Order: sequence, then structure tokens, then C-alpha cells
Amino acid sequence: MELWFTEKQTENFGITAKVHKTLHTEQTPYQKLDMLDTVEFGHMLTLDGMVMTTERDEFVYHEMVAHVPLFTHPNPKNVLVVGGGDGGVIREVVKHPEVEKVTLVEIDGAVIETSKKYLPSIAVAFDHPKVETIVGDGFMHIAESRNAYDVIMVDSTEPVGPAVKLFEKGFYEGISRALKADGLFIAQTDNPWFKADLIRKVFRDVKEIFPITRLYTANIPTYPSGLWTFTMGSKKYDPLAVSEERFTDIETKYYTKDLHKAAFVLPKFVEDLTK
Ligand code: SAM
Repeated sequence: MELWFTEKQTENFGITAKVHKTLHTEQTPYQKLDMLDTVEFGHMLTLDGMVMTTERDEFVYHEMVAHVPLFTHPNPKNVLVVGGGDGGVIREVVKHPEVEKVTLVEIDGAVIETSKKYLPSIAVAFDHPKVETIVGDGFMHIAESRNAYDVIMVDSTEPVGPAVKLFEKGFYEGISRALKADGLFIAQTDNPWFKADLIRKVFRDVKEIFPITRLYTANIPTYPSGLWTFTMGSKKYDPLAVSEERFTDIETKYYTKDLHKAAFVLPKFVEDLTK
């Protein structure tokens, strides 16, 4: 008997993956957590039936969340990751020698523990000396932070459950207060095929707060539609004005200094969401 996992990306469309077996399943205080062993993409973490990350394609998302903002900032010493409990973003952040500390604020400790057990190639940096892990609400952490961070990355689930408030304008205003005077942030902002209105709203909200606001994309086969977006709000530094010498060599599989710029070149129907 074949076993398949299907994510309904809309009420009428989804993706399906053949599964060897379910490795772990639990109802946490925040969400339904499943870890699957899939044939095509290896171990796959899902939350409330939505693909969060897979061993095979995770590098795309984690590199684009981390390296675009970190190379945009000339000297990112203090970094914050909101969400990110699978550990992929902090694995990428600690590759940057300028970074002195990265704080990860993940609301659900079960995500961290399950990722450590079943995603050994992703959850590798939790014990890194530069990493501080806080199990808590990223919204509250931002609300309590002032002039603290050079770069903030919002690696949250889609706007459901505890992540709903991470897509509201008040949260981005809080991010601005939590950032230093020349700080910048990025947030994952879903896909333009099924969540165009979300992208349009977030971009408009961020643009009302930050002098530099840009949208960039990446190809992530296991995410809804495969075309993913990230919204950047920056107080001073433009991601398209990074000097050649700023791009130091780090080990990547997707991100390059040329792709850093190309990612901001948008298909017309996506660019229209930023107007
Ligand atoms: N790459 C995935 C995506 O784009 O959907 C996100 C992966 S990461 C596992 C998302 C994490 O955000 C989850 O572990 C979830 O528990 C966490 N999260 C959701 N709301 C949060 C909040 N208010 N504060 C901190 N973490 C939160």
C-alpha cells in the first residue's frame, strides 16, 4: 500500500509526495507537527499540514533568507531570527564572520527538538557559541526590543495561528523600533500565485515605514506554487547598491553575488504587486 502526503495549497490545488513513513507526529500547544520521510525530498517537516522544510530543497530558502540581508548590511553584528525553529537560517547566519550574536526566538520548542532529531543537516547550529535560542513569542520579543539589531529575519509560518500577528503593520513598526538606526529586515512573504493580496498588503505596509523597500524571489519546489517571495525593509542600505568587495566567499548551494541582484528582478505580475 502506497502512502502519500498531500498539502492543499488552496481549496482546489495542492502538491502530493510519496512517503516511506511518518517519523514523528504530535499536537503541540501551537500546531500539528509532522516529520515525514519522503521518497523525493528526504525528511520533511510540516506544521498544520503545510510544508516547512525538506532535506533536499531547504538550502534555497535558508540561504536567501540569510545572505541577501547579511550582505546588504556592511557590518551585521547583532542578528535576530523570528521563528526559524528548524535551524536552517541560523546555520547560514553563523557563516558570516562579522556576526557576533544571532538570537533565535521560536514559539514552539517542539519544532526545535524534532528538527534536532530528524533534520541533522539543517538543525546544526543551535549549539554554536554565537547562537542564543529563546523559546517564546517573536511578536513580544520585538515589542520589548529597542535599537538592538542590525538585521532581523522573520522566518515564520504563513499567517495562521501564532504567526497571524507577524504579518500586521504594527509588527513591522515594532521591527523598525527594534532595529538600529541603519538596520534592515526581511520577512518571508509567501507566493504571488495564491497569496498576491498578502504580498501587496505587506509591501505597502513596509513601504510606509522604511525608506527602502524591495521584494525578491527564489524557486522553492516544495512551497506553494514554487515561486517564493521575501520582502525587505531597510533604513539605510539598498540591496542593489552592495559593493563588489562586500561579497566575501561563503559556502552556498543556491546564493551567489550575481543571484543576489537577479533575485530582485521580478516578473511583471509580481512587480505589479509592489506598485
Ligand atoms: N520556511 C517556513 C515557511 O516559509 O513557512 C517557515 C519555517 S519555520 C519552522 C516557521 C516557524 O515559525 C515555526 O516553527 C513556528 O512555530 C514559528 N512561529 C510561528 N509564529 C511565531 C511567533 N509568533 N513567534 C515565534 N515563532 C513563531
